[in-house]
Amino acid sequence: MRISRLGSLLFFFFFFFFFLLLASVLPTFSQDSNPAAPPAAPDSATVSKAPNPSPPANPLSFNDVLDRVIQREHLFLAQMRHMRPMVETYLQDLKSDSDGNSIPVKDQYFLGRLEMNEGPDDVSFVGQPGFGHRMLNKLTGVYSMRFLPLGFAQMVVLDTDFQKQYYKFTFVRREFLGEIRCLVIDVEPRQGSGTGRFKGRMWVEDQDYNVVRFNGTYYPHPKTSYYLHFDSWRLNLQSGMWLPAYIYSEESDLKYMMAKSLHFKAQTRLWGYDLKGLGKNEEFTQILVDSPQSVKDQSEAAADATPVVAERMWERQAENNAVDRLQKVGLLAPSGEVDKVLQTVVTNLLVTNNIDLQSDVHCRVLLTAPLESLTIGHTIVVSRGLLDVLPDEASLAMVLAHELSHIVLGHQFDTKLAFNDRMFFPDEESFHRLDFKRRAADEEAADTKAVELLKNSPYKDKLGTAGLFLKALQQRAPALPNLIRPHLGNGLAAGKSVRMSTLLASAPQLEERRTDQIAALPLGGRIKLDPWSDHVDLAKAKPVPLISAREKMPFEITPFFPYLTRFSTAGTDRVALTAPDRK
Ligand SMILES: [Zn+2]
Repeated sequence: MRISRLGSLLFFFFFFFFFLLLASVLPTFSQDSNPAAPPAAPDSATVSKAPNPSPPANPLSFNDVLDRVIQREHLFLAQMRHMRPMVETYLQDLKSDSDGNSIPVKDQYFLGRLEMNEGPDDVSFVGQPGFGHRMLNKLTGVYSMRFLPLGFAQMVVLDTDFQKQYYKFTFVRREFLGEIRCLVIDVEPRQGSGTGRFKGRMWVEDQDYNVVRFNGTYYPHPKTSYYLHFDSWRLNLQSGMWLPAYIYSEESDLKYMMAKSLHFKAQTRLWGYDLKGLGKNEEFTQILVDSPQSVKDQSEAAADATPVVAERMWERQAENNAVDRLQKVGLLAPSGEVDKVLQTVVTNLLVTNNIDLQSDVHCRVLLTAPLESLTIGHTIVVSRGLLDVLPDEASLAMVLAHELSHIVLGHQFDTKLAFNDRMFFPDEESFHRLDFKRRAADEEAADTKAVELLKNSPYKDKLGTAGLFLKALQQRAPALPNLIRPHLGNGLAAGKSVRMSTLLASAPQLEERRTDQIAALPLGGRIKLDPWSDHVDLAKAKPVPLISAREKMPFEITPFFPYLTRFSTAGTDRVALTAPDRK
């Protein structure tokens, strides 16, 4: 659902502030805003593409550096106006338990596309008018308090009217972020420079002077509203382009409304910048779709499909349509290395069970955080979030065995998507139009078959950890409905019931205080996503030993520390997230 009407209203006053506004003061805000869009340099596009391989011969003065930084930041905004990345925010509301540790008690999820061409706007994929509305009703439960519709995505911008005279800049030191040498600069708004200026620290790479990270908040906040703290990271995704990729936000005790306080952690990720590239499978699809009708060859080898073959081709057509659409929208990663890892596990299951399906099973990665897996024809899809939290290969085999069972049992796949007109819908309706939910009876049958497949497989002696994962899932599911809620397929858990519950019985006791028992991992450590091309890869960072049980953080949110590198056309390996601690 588009919220551009609201968005264009907000356009006038968005630039100052981000967050936790009291609804009642919105009109007042719009009066004291100023036109914020900085003029784009006429030749900005060419400037942005020009690589700058060598640092300037003469070291610049700090003042010159600041001029460059501000110029680059204006260029950044001009670049962002042409971008329409996906933006996903996942937030966990926290409470302290009896040991003083913070545990998630509620969660929120938002997925949309960021539009900055005439001021930030968003297009929601998950059926609510924007993050703000949901926050108002569900997170705070306080009607007079709201998050702005653009929510966390606004934190991609340091200041849309970034001018030297508004700030006091202090050079702190030089520091490496990954392999990028940065100037670290403290930034403080001057008195009288307006509300909602950035206050904190920025890291500026020392070749072209792009801001690569900024950490702080907006200041001063208007009398009746609040800004959250955030840590915003950009990656060098193309030559001359440092684009927003990660934002971490956290508040432990933000007081509002006299007696209330806000306690949460949130991760925002952006991806799908290369919209043209994402759609490039289109031609390939067209060939596949056309081929059944265009068999005009009169040679003897050519023959019409038999009814059975025709039925299979028809299903394959529906499957290809759906898979290609999901990839084009930016919800599915292009085929890659992670798929091969998943396919190896599927092959292990098939071979040890002597099953010949007569056609290949493909595996693909859904780019979103909520934990889900589904089957589209002969394609098994597993979400990034689920791959992140699964503790080991046996638990991955459990997820894949369930989906594989749908294929092995020949469960009906709705072929309505084989008609191409059904693919004509706006991207943001993808979750409604592409629904791969199974009947409860099919789910049960798949569970039973999956246990059978696993018992014959190389994973048969390691199913304890798979059961343990399900136990952890069952325990956390009531507090984290938005993480567990599937968008395309069936849920892993609903209420107290979980998928493949027979494995629960054989699983060991869940022991939260033991550091050597890892039932589920934190979000974000296993899969690394290239925000430009949407390619996914397995993170290479090695697990570190846990110091305390607090570091287990099953299904939880952690800060980001990407290893920054410069864009190079040769390397595909430029986004290495340091993994959170894990076994
Ligand atoms: Zn299923």
